[in-house]
Amino acid sequence: MKKFTLTIICATSLMMLFYGCGKSNSQKKPKYIFYMIGDGMGLAHIQFAENYLDAVNHDTATTHLEMMKFPVLGTATTYSASSFVTCSSAAGTALATGNKTKNSLLGVLADSITPITPISQKFHDEGYNVGIITSVTLDHATPAAFYAHVKDRNMYKEICYQLKDIDFEFFGGAGLRGLKDDIGLYDSLKANGFVVTCDKQTILDHKMSDGKLFAYNPVTSALPPDIPYLVDSRNHDMHLPFYVKKAIELFEKDKKGFFMMIEGGRIDHACHANDPGGTLGEMLDFDEAIKLAYEFYTRHPKETLIVVTADHETGGLSIGQASTGYASYPELLDYQKISYDKLKAQFKEMVTNDVKPTKEEIYNILCENFGFNNENPKMALNKLDSLRIDFFYIHDFDPSRMPKYGEMIKPEIYRTNLVSVHNMAALAVRIMSEKAGIGWTTGSHTGGAVPVRAIGVWQEKFDGSYDNTDIPKKIHGDL
Ligand SMILES: [Zn+2]
Repeated sequence: MKKFTLTIICATSLMMLFYGCGKSNSQKKPKYIFYMIGDGMGLAHIQFAENYLDAVNHDTATTHLEMMKFPVLGTATTYSASSFVTCSSAAGTALATGNKTKNSLLGVLADSITPITPISQKFHDEGYNVGIITSVTLDHATPAAFYAHVKDRNMYKEICYQLKDIDFEFFGGAGLRGLKDDIGLYDSLKANGFVVTCDKQTILDHKMSDGKLFAYNPVTSALPPDIPYLVDSRNHDMHLPFYVKKAIELFEKDKKGFFMMIEGGRIDHACHANDPGGTLGEMLDFDEAIKLAYEFYTRHPKETLIVVTADHETGGLSIGQASTGYASYPELLDYQKISYDKLKAQFKEMVTNDVKPTKEEIYNILCENFGFNNENPKMALNKLDSLRIDFFYIHDFDPSRMPKYGEMIKPEIYRTNLVSVHNMAALAVRIMSEKAGIGWTTGSHTGGAVPVRAIGVWQEKFDGSYDNTDIPKKIHGDL
């Protein structure tokens, strides 16, 4: 009996010793890691997308995005080494390496020269397969923070030269901005062992034994080669979930573990444009990708960690704004059929081609694409809307009349909130925001903390409030 008691005491002490090392070390390192970053995604963005789903389902605050079903919620501060308001390269560097740096630096310390090893590389060196996936170009700030080191995030060509030497197994996203400076970039990737393809079937057929894959979206226009906004394409074909699905399929069959960085990169773009329908589509697209990660988790719950966070907030998005007071109508965004970027390009083409549309034609374009003046009384254009449309009609399409006309209606126009509204397309998404009750304070980023959601192995580490530099340390096991 005495011996039995002693055994129990010893066993208990051993267990205490084991767990005493900290709750976070109670399980061994996750084998499968999804690190998901919504670029520009603040808490309001998440709630906005949920409100939309609630509204279209005629429900009341019961619909949750996949990420909001995760058991752990934390918050992370986002300031950079040079500003309370970070840019994506400083934030990406923090999230990838655990170090603060100055805005516009990428993958280097604040001295602008010392390179820092990202956790993607650490995991790769430890034998994990690595995937870098994004809806923007693969040389853009956030994905590049996981493999490159440059003193300016806009050095796309240099970033691509570094990319070709990387041995990660999978890159999936929207091609390369660096191509504008060196059209031979895809050839140099191929020369360095990458299978480089934008052909859907080739991507679908690719196997691990075929080598490292650089899969990108075919470029369809002269716009930046990012994956088109969901609001413009209206399906998930070759969007973020497509690449996530492919990477999961490749890696799940392999014996090794994996580290996957998945960025919803165009949430940020839509928010820079203060485009509500654009933002909503990208939020839902990102959540589709999270659903795929969650499905994987349900197959390997004891070995998987999913962390969802953001690099910063963009746009100062608010639910509710001056025009609607204590109300918001996110369901009205169903009427929006075009992104700010696409509409702006359409209008720009008219000006470039010397096509001078009539005011009526412009009204028709706006009404067709945003549902203004349709059967829903909430979509009726009011006097101020018309005044502003008239103003930007002159401004964009008949500028010789601008000085006189501009002076005449300036007092009326500037009584309204025109932050970031500088052309007809921007006005269209602004009016749409006002109808839906969505507010914006800036065309840039804001400096608030961002949410962190986690599920799986080590999930408990992500509870509470901490700094963004702590997140990669927690994921890698250094914290
Ligand atoms: Zn941004």
